[in-house]
Amino acid sequence: MKFNTKTIHGGQKQDPAYGSVMPPIYQTSTYAQSTPGGHKGYEYSRTHNPTRNALENALASIENGKYGLAFGSGLAAIDAVLKLLEPGDEVVSTNDLYGGTYRLFTKIYERFGIKFHFVGMRNATNIEEFITPDTKLIWVETPTNPMMNIIDIVETSKIAKRHKILLAVDNTFATPYLQQPLDLGADIVMHSVTKYLGGHSDLVMGALVVKDKELADRLFFIQNASGAVCGPQDSFLALRGIKTLHIRMQRHCENGKAVAEYLASHPKIENVYWPGFKNHPNYEIAKSQMNDFGGMVSFTTKGNNYEDAIRIVENLRVFTLAESLGGVESLAGHPASMTHASIPKKEREKTGVVDSLIRLSVGIEDEDDLIADLKQAIG
Ligand SMILES: *Cc1c(COP(=O)(O)O)cnc(C)c1O
Repeated sequence: MKFNTKTIHGGQKQDPAYGSVMPPIYQTSTYAQSTPGGHKGYEYSRTHNPTRNALENALASIENGKYGLAFGSGLAAIDAVLKLLEPGDEVVSTNDLYGGTYRLFTKIYERFGIKFHFVGMRNATNIEEFITPDTKLIWVETPTNPMMNIIDIVETSKIAKRHKILLAVDNTFATPYLQQPLDLGADIVMHSVTKYLGGHSDLVMGALVVKDKELADRLFFIQNASGAVCGPQDSFLALRGIKTLHIRMQRHCENGKAVAEYLASHPKIENVYWPGFKNHPNYEIAKSQMNDFGGMVSFTTKGNNYEDAIRIVENLRVFTLAESLGGVESLAGHPASMTHASIPKKEREKTGVVDSLIRLSVGIEDEDDLIADLKQAIG
C-alpha cells in the first residue's frame, strides 16, 4: 500500500459491531467480564482502548513500523523512551532541540543519574567522540527547531548500530509524508501528534512507533505502568487528522517554498532558514532523506533588531502569533521572547536564535494571502 492510501486505510478495519467506517469513540474506562479474566481483549482503558488501538495501528502503518503507542503528549512519549534507561546511562542528543525535550532531559532525568551530551550533529561523525560504554541512546531531531538544521539519519544509524545503541528520531517537523526514519535505520520514531499528525490545533498528544517486538513490549510495559495515555476522544480526532495528512503536507510544502522564496528575495530580510535552498548546509542530505522540504521556515531581519521582529509579528493578520506548529492555519513565533526566552541570550545566540529570528509554521491557506500578509507586516 502506498503512503497516500495508508493515511486513510493503513492498519484500519471496519468496526465489527455495525461496520462503521470510522472507529467508534469507546468512551469507557472498563469492560465487562463474564468470569474473572473472561473478556474480549479489553480489561481497562489505561492498558488498552479500541479507539486508541485503532490510532496506534494507523501510526504504525504510516511510519512503516509494526507497533504504535499513543501518549497524552509528545513529552509523555519522550518520557517513556527515557524510562528504558537506568542511572549511569548516557544519551547523545541533538544540541538545538525542542525546548521541552531539553527541559525534560536536563531538569528531570539528569536528577535521576542520566547524563546527556548535547552535540551539533550537522556532521554526523561529531557524534562518535561523545560515545562511551555507557551510551544507550542517541536522540535526533531533524529538521531542528527553529534553525532547520538537517541531520543525516542513515549516517547516525550506522554509528548507533556499530556501538549497539538505540537511535530515536523526533519526526514531528517532517512527518512520515516527508521522512520515514525507521526505513533509514532508526529504532524508535517519536511524534508530537499535537502538530502535523493531528493537524488542526485541537489536541495534545504524542506517539512512538517501532519495528522490534522486544522493544515494543518494553515500551508497552512503560506506557501501561506509567500511564501517560491519551483518551478515546483525542484518539479519534488524531485518526481523523491523519486521513488528510498527505494532502495537507503537500500544500504545507508548496506554501512553505513560496514563503521561503519570497522572504529570500525581500530587501529587509537577512537570512532565511529552509532546507530546500541549495545553499542550505545540508541540502543534499535533506534531498536524499526527505521527499520534500516541509512548511517550517525561519528568518532574520537586516540589522537584527529585536523591535523590528516584534513589530513584524504584531502586524501579521493572516498568520497568528502563537506557539505550536503544524496546524492548517499559519502561525508565527518569536523564539527569543517566546519559546527560547528562558535560555540566556548568549546561549541561545550560539545556536542561531538571535533577537530578530522569526519562525513560521506555514499553513494551507491561499499562498497569495500569506505572501501579501508578510509583505504588509515587514513593510
Ligand atoms: C511540540 C514538540 C514536542 C513536544 O510535544 P507536546 O505534544 O507539546 O508534548 C516535541 N518535539 C517537537 C519537535 C515539538 O515540536
